[in-house]
Amino acid sequence: MNNLLIKNGLLIHADKQINEDILIRGETIQELGQNLTVSPDTTIIDASGKLIFPGVIDPHTHMGIPIKDGSSADTFATGSRSALHGGVTTILDFTVLGPGQTLCESLETRQKLAAESLCDVGLHINITRFEPEILDEIPLLIKKGYNSFKVFTTYEEAGMMLSYGQIEAVAKIIGENDGILMVHSEDNETIMAASEPFSDRSETHPKYHAYARPAEAEAVAIQTLGEISTRTNCTIYIVHLNTAQGLAVAAEFPLLKVETCPHYLMLTEDVYEQDDGTMFVASPPLRKQNDQDALWQGIQNGQIHTIGSDHCPFCLADKTADIPFQDIPNGMGGVETLFPGLLAQFIKRNIDLSLLTQLSSRNAAKIFDLDAIKGSLSVGAHADLLIIDPKASMQDWELNLDTILDWNAYAGLPAIFPETVIRRGEIVVASGQTQSCSQGELVVSTPS
Ligand SMILES: [Zn+2]
Repeated sequence: MNNLLIKNGLLIHADKQINEDILIRGETIQELGQNLTVSPDTTIIDASGKLIFPGVIDPHTHMGIPIKDGSSADTFATGSRSALHGGVTTILDFTVLGPGQTLCESLETRQKLAAESLCDVGLHINITRFEPEILDEIPLLIKKGYNSFKVFTTYEEAGMMLSYGQIEAVAKIIGENDGILMVHSEDNETIMAASEPFSDRSETHPKYHAYARPAEAEAVAIQTLGEISTRTNCTIYIVHLNTAQGLAVAAEFPLLKVETCPHYLMLTEDVYEQDDGTMFVASPPLRKQNDQDALWQGIQNGQIHTIGSDHCPFCLADKTADIPFQDIPNGMGGVETLFPGLLAQFIKRNIDLSLLTQLSSRNAAKIFDLDAIKGSLSVGAHADLLIIDPKASMQDWELNLDTILDWNAYAGLPAIFPETVIRRGEIVVASGQTQSCSQGELVVSTPS
């Protein structure tokens, strides 16, 4: 069995920061404290001057999902390797409900693909069709540990939307069974009205993507979802919240949990004017500076609970210019850049690093019932952790990324990559280099 002692590091817990040594035996943390007694076969890592964070849980990725022509650029194998390199030891991805499939069948299909992941991986269940048989499967899936489901208030043309009435019916069942409902929250009618001027499909500039999906659409959807959460007593998790208006509405409803994404915290819609503007087309679109400021405020006052990458990358050749902006594939990479970029921002903005632990691992573990094993540096939990030199800030992303992607949204911004990443007791990144390692495991929720 693998024994590791990490000495002299500063542990960044969600509620305190403390100098303690960590003794890892096999896959779990066995002991925390000073002057721990260790066996002679123990490997010792000196972490003097370093920060130790729990391994990051990215609650929102899309590895290799089908789009109109092809799929997003990373597979579970390539994306999870990048994830580990950036400090993400667990990803929560989504099933894809194929035509005629049951939810359980869609889960089996996706599990097979996820089996090639190098980081640990959980799956949220996408509900993109409303049928009685599908509703019947929900309690069964929750019993098996699949307690999070996702629906969309838009993408009617892609056949993925549920009406608010249908969402309420789903929320009722999920609420009764102690599950959680995740919602892509952009009001479809508001988007249809804003998209009308572009219906002749003559515009190619990526900035029109933001015009066609206005900020109001988020606030309208969240108001209705907040009311649904209250009526059904179902926790609703708003994915990728991105506007000041949406955040203000969400804060009114106690059963709403809020996720935002690094791109809304570090970029604004101004990037659509850049030469590589098409690469930043993602849904929802990037927003204005005042939205970004509100999100940072929301992080500091506890209105935002998690940060997910919404990793759905494309390469330069996938997003050629001079096509109608509606045809640009939606999505950006972010699983590898998530934590290095945010850590540099937290330090630059002088924000308490325990808050980063809450947002990058602890809260997601609690919300998705993984906290018995994930999301904290505690005895009995999986030994998922990052050793970081806080002085190792750099801007040469291209030299430091471990990715198949040929484009990075955050060029020019500072980043701090982990020096060492440990996933279930195994050193998977050493001196900043990804090591060959064992496969990740599938994780399911265990209600506490
Ligand atoms: Zn997404």
